[in-house]
Amino acid sequence: MAFVERLVCSKCGREYEAQSGILMCEAKDYGRLDVVYDYEKVADAFSLGEAADKTLAEKYWPLLPVDTKYVPAMGEGGTPLLRAERLGEILGMKQLYFKDETRNPTGSFKDRAMCIGVGKALELGYRVTVTASSGNAAASLAAYSARAGLGCVAFVLEAASMEKLAQLAAYGAELVRLKGIEKGVDPTVRAMLRFAEVMRWYPCPSFGPFNPYQVEGLKTIYYELFEQLGYDPDWVFVPTGSGCLLTGVFKGFRDLEVLGKSTSVPKFACVQPEGNGPLVEAFKSGVAFDEVRPWPNPKSVASGLLDPYPWDGDGVLEALRRTGGTAIAVSDDEIMRAVRLLASCEGIFAEPSGAAGLAGLIKVLELGLIERDVTVVVLVTGSGLKDVSPLVKGLSLPVFEPDDPALVTYLQSLRAASASRKVSTELQRTASSRCVNFAQG
Ligand SMILES: *Cc1c(COP(=O)(O)O)cnc(C)c1O
Ligand SMILES: [Zn+2]
Repeated sequence: MAFVERLVCSKCGREYEAQSGILMCEAKDYGRLDVVYDYEKVADAFSLGEAADKTLAEKYWPLLPVDTKYVPAMGEGGTPLLRAERLGEILGMKQLYFKDETRNPTGSFKDRAMCIGVGKALELGYRVTVTASSGNAAASLAAYSARAGLGCVAFVLEAASMEKLAQLAAYGAELVRLKGIEKGVDPTVRAMLRFAEVMRWYPCPSFGPFNPYQVEGLKTIYYELFEQLGYDPDWVFVPTGSGCLLTGVFKGFRDLEVLGKSTSVPKFACVQPEGNGPLVEAFKSGVAFDEVRPWPNPKSVASGLLDPYPWDGDGVLEALRRTGGTAIAVSDDEIMRAVRLLASCEGIFAEPSGAAGLAGLIKVLELGLIERDVTVVVLVTGSGLKDVSPLVKGLSLPVFEPDDPALVTYLQSLRAASASRKVSTELQRTASSRCVNFAQG
């Protein structure tokens, strides 16, 4: 809080005082209130490479908008940057890294945003948080609200999976199911806005326009990967739904650039599913963010990337244009291939949304859009344990007695099956023989 200078609306430019406690622009234009710091003061207080036993908020406090004592820390951030030797070799890349965000307390990077968001709710004296989601953002908000002793209300779509709702309910969140999407306007967002106002609840979805502090927590991903690498990567691949994550990571780079720590500009790659790609389309056609409309019928195995409207898309398009980055759409098959490659080659189990960044990298390499000798960081955003159902579907396993003679034949058939595995691309051929096919020895 100490070094926040003011809040500025990303749409209309209206300015607000740091102390105002305001969360949304009074013009009701769905602009994001960007937090502006006094960088001269920050420069004296901010340092990279702080002790590992400090919390996320303690390490980076000069560039965070909340007093550290309010942040209900539980081990968020500080995730490993894993060098991908095996996949790197398969893809012909020497400098490929995964930032493993599956390690966060609730299994996704959303914890970085929510610990700051909920800390701010406490600082501002709210008693109840409210969100419009049944996914990772809601799980994270519910967990941090529980830890902070705040109530939490989640407006969810009728179609939300019961597994996801069960996790929210376990954290003590109150769940309100709403009827489906009408004309692209998400009814959960409408209900959240309405009741935040009526009930004086603290809106804390994972989009900037309704909570200025989401982006602030997400910035820390860039600080960490810069500390871990020791330099700026050439590319950062980011699975994208609402665009808050990419907007936040780019702001993290901008902070380090202003402070004179970053010395080169990383290119950002926005990866969306083919079944929900408003930002890929906007980037390719060069349209302004104002002209982006909600995607008509979002559909993908990557359930975390299905925001029909990219609330923070302005930040994404700015990041791509300013860094010379790119946007790429990936199919569900490509996403599931990435899930399997990440798990079988690198030991990282990601949910489909979490592996979409790798799917994007593979596609961009296949299209020849980037060189293979550059340093690439791929964000792995959510744990496979969050969404196992797409993998369960493809499993069918016979059952044996341990001394059944048929078992020997079966084990031999495993070798045969994997050796003759049908593969379509060079990548899969190498990948299946090197990693997937352990039975071949
Ligand atoms: C929320 C989420 C994303 C996308 O983040 P946005 O800020 O909506 O762009 C990606 N992966 C996972 C696992 C998520 O939960
Ligand atoms: Zn505004």
